[in-house]
Amino acid sequence: MKQTASPETIDAFVETLRRDGVTDPRVLDVMARTPRENFVEPHFAARAYDNLPLPIACAQTISQPSVVGLMTQELDLTTRSKVLEVGAGSGYQTAILAGLSRRVYALERHRTLADQATSRLRALGIENVILTHGDGSDGWPMHAPFDRIMVAAAAEDPPRALLDQLRVGGIMILPVGDEGDEQQLIKVTRTEDGFNYDELIPVRFVPLLDGSV
Ligand code: SAH
Repeated sequence: MKQTASPETIDAFVETLRRDGVTDPRVLDVMARTPRENFVEPHFAARAYDNLPLPIACAQTISQPSVVGLMTQELDLTTRSKVLEVGAGSGYQTAILAGLSRRVYALERHRTLADQATSRLRALGIENVILTHGDGSDGWPMHAPFDRIMVAAAAEDPPRALLDQLRVGGIMILPVGDEGDEQQLIKVTRTEDGFNYDELIPVRFVPLLDGSV
């Protein structure tokens, strides 16, 4: 992976992330090394290190960097984690997850985005990702259970299939709530007896939609 932005740009980026609560040095390190400009539309390249969500193809958005950082931090990944990502979008979050875990299984319902994300990850030499075009609301039973699950689109409630595919001791981070209304980022921890739910921060994500296009 090659970071082409200037050291000053990256230092300022990391400082912004830190100020917004991203304090895990492993997360900051991988975000500093990942060239976000590769994951935005070319005409937004100059804004790639602003702490902003930006439009991507298919009327979707690349998430705000500080939100990517906070979600990743809450996932508490180890190099042994097997991760499911639902809603890969640009592939930026996928690249960050891949840098901190053993393997990432990623699903994206827009074929155009799935294809773009796959070639971006390949161009960066990221090899521990299996990214496929498909509906992630049902998870990916063939590869379950997962140690960690990250969802980048909001559902009203945590989808049952995703809860079922989370390993005991596992963590899932997802936004819940209606589009337009206030959404909350939720951390679900699976225990021997059930699930614990913690509310993290208010967020705004695109909706989790059924079917693939
Ligand atoms: N973290 C990504 C976020 C992309 S936006 C990034 O920073 O680029 C969320 C993505 O979820 C969109 O690309 C949308 O197409 C996708 N999505 C929504 N519902 C989905 C579903 N059921 N299965 C898979 N992807 C879904």
